[in-house]
Amino acid sequence: MQNNTIVPKSVLVVVAHPDDMEFTCGGTVAKWADAGSQVHLVLATSGDKGTKDRDMSPHAMSDIREREQRSAADVLGIADVTFLRHRDGELEVTMAFRNQISALIRKFEPDALVTHDPWRSYQVHPDHRAIGTVSIDAIVAARDHLYVPEQLVAGLEPHHTSHVFLFSTDAPDHLEDISDYMDRKLTSLGCHASQLGHLPNWQDRVIQWAELTGERIGVRYAEAFKHIELL
Ligand SMILES: [Zn+2]
Repeated sequence: MQNNTIVPKSVLVVVAHPDDMEFTCGGTVAKWADAGSQVHLVLATSGDKGTKDRDMSPHAMSDIREREQRSAADVLGIADVTFLRHRDGELEVTMAFRNQISALIRKFEPDALVTHDPWRSYQVHPDHRAIGTVSIDAIVAARDHLYVPEQLVAGLEPHHTSHVFLFSTDAPDHLEDISDYMDRKLTSLGCHASQLGHLPNWQDRVIQWAELTGERIGVRYAEAFKHIELL
């Protein structure tokens, strides 16, 4: 089990929905940002189906959730936020989507990419499966110049991403001590007010989850990842 061994200079976090990052890796992101990492956040959807209010339109929901996400990103020290605005719940593993993420990898040139583990057993949400698969496929496409050559014509260069960190994983082998960052994680989650009304005691649950993870490496709070190093 690894602990506290890596601070990437540049990080690309690719998630399906607003609040996915904060729940799964918000403490780690804040810790890396404080240590000098440039953290870029990409959201495939703006969570436009994330309401039980029959009078709320998808467009209005997106506006609310993008505002909430920008506030949360500020709390964590994220450099920039990119909204791809695909339709919530309808992400698919397509070549066009892979190429879109590949272009972002070539643009931001991350040392580390952080995303959903697409191999998690019984992952029910289709977006979480799709975005993990597409992001990992895009790492390979971004690396080699004969993939999507029109991106090179447009001025982008091939980029090799050295580290992948997968959250919501069945196979954690890298735990980050976030004991000093639990408050920031909770504050960033609190920015997503539109989502927290139907999650009673969300703070207790998030704290308990981080405590159980932390116990594995003898710290108060931690977040867990599957780490893949690409040579
Ligand atoms: Zn999600």
